[in-house]
Amino acid sequence: MESVEKVIDEKIQGKALVTENKAENTKKLFIESYGCQMNMNDSEIVAAILDKEGYNTTQILEEADLVLVNTCSIREKAETTVRNRLKKYNAVKKVNKTMKVGVLGCMAERLKAKFLEEEKIVDLVVGPDAYKDLPNLLEEVNEGRDAVNVILSKEETYGDIAPVRLNSNGVSAFVSITRGCDNMCTFCVVPFTRGRERSRDPKSILEEIGQMVDKNYKEITLLGQNVDSYLWFGGGLKKDFKKASEMAQATAIDFAQLLDMCATKYPKTRFRFSTSNPQDMSLDVIHTMAKHKNICKYIHLPIQSGSNSVLKAMNRQHTREEYLDLVENIYKIIPEMNLSQDMIAGFCGETEKDHQDTLDLMEKVKYSFGFMFAYSERPGTLAAKKMKDDVSLATKKRRLKEIIALQQKHSLYRAKQHVGQVQEVLIEGTSKKNDNEWKGRNTQNTVVVFPKEHYKLGEFVNVKINDCTTTTLKGVAVGYSDNN
Ligand code: SF4
Repeated sequence: MESVEKVIDEKIQGKALVTENKAENTKKLFIESYGCQMNMNDSEIVAAILDKEGYNTTQILEEADLVLVNTCSIREKAETTVRNRLKKYNAVKKVNKTMKVGVLGCMAERLKAKFLEEEKIVDLVVGPDAYKDLPNLLEEVNEGRDAVNVILSKEETYGDIAPVRLNSNGVSAFVSITRGCDNMCTFCVVPFTRGRERSRDPKSILEEIGQMVDKNYKEITLLGQNVDSYLWFGGGLKKDFKKASEMAQATAIDFAQLLDMCATKYPKTRFRFSTSNPQDMSLDVIHTMAKHKNICKYIHLPIQSGSNSVLKAMNRQHTREEYLDLVENIYKIIPEMNLSQDMIAGFCGETEKDHQDTLDLMEKVKYSFGFMFAYSERPGTLAAKKMKDDVSLATKKRRLKEIIALQQKHSLYRAKQHVGQVQEVLIEGTSKKNDNEWKGRNTQNTVVVFPKEHYKLGEFVNVKINDCTTTTLKGVAVGYSDNN
């Protein structure tokens, strides 16, 4: 997963996450989640573990027995946001003296016990692989001791826990398939905060999807730091695959096969996945997407830079030429595919020529969307240890501005390609701008808004696209899709 570019909807970013409460639960949990979809899915796993401990979720901070913030560490700004939230909790804790405060996620893993020294309000520090230990850690806290568990696991996939859906629209949900990342991109903290790659048993993945389908969910996003690296051979770290038995290797299940299993078993369910990695992506995945109408024709395919020398400095295991070949094959196999990107402006040593290579690559691909940031040095990464953050902030900002401007031009170009077409849209909620309009996404992951008429949340509707902006398509419903 290209870090947190693929952030969760800003509507729930940092907002109290809730679910239906149970009468028998007496304790109150206030939980917030920052960063990526993996963190959001982990917050749902944490809510499920604490539901068993008698916790209901609440949106009222002042009445909480336990406050948990699931943190992100991908950029300095993400960590500053968390520290500001902790200050807010501090004010409330002066009133609600029994309230316990815990930090979860990547920042907790990066700082470990140091978090307790740096932020006195914190009672509990729990890393992404230690959530099952929460009941024990809370016991320690309730006995007046601070508690820390930041052990990274070789096995843990939380495959045996059915996440409690938080702030759910009842239509689309995330299902995690892998954890951790073995690619050591020099700018990235993820391998240090989420550990080595391990994949989840396909049986438990299909079971969880089945439970969602039974609850009438219509779309599932398969989640992983690097979904293309998915490989099930009985459990354990991916790097130990070669040590597995011949039988285990021969019967291993890779991402293309898992995708085929999901789409075949649940033909009426829409599938998406995030996030891909160009160096691990196989064309089998693209052929599987072409084979199944219910696998959405959209891939988030981060590249970070269009320059070979910067890609090398980032330790990305591909060249710009190899990436462009992959893109060419993708468009050949599925011409209507839309791609989105992650881009970092101003990485260590980046020259003006390198920056021009990035703009040139974007011109060749014409992404429909992008997550673009100025390079932010992260403590503990290889780049921080070995490379000079030598591109000035002014240059980073200017280059980022040029990348964003070009992306906006391409987003409009891609949006205009949909005008005049009739597209299948899954209704996911009310439009932010107009209560009389529904919003949903087409198979290419572009947001579509249209008048509500008699259509309902969770229905697949055919919409005639009449107009667009850089980010949104506008249209009128012309009937139900045959997938409804
Ligand atoms: S190390 Fe590279 S592939 Fe892995 S999560 Fe970070 S950016 Fe993505």
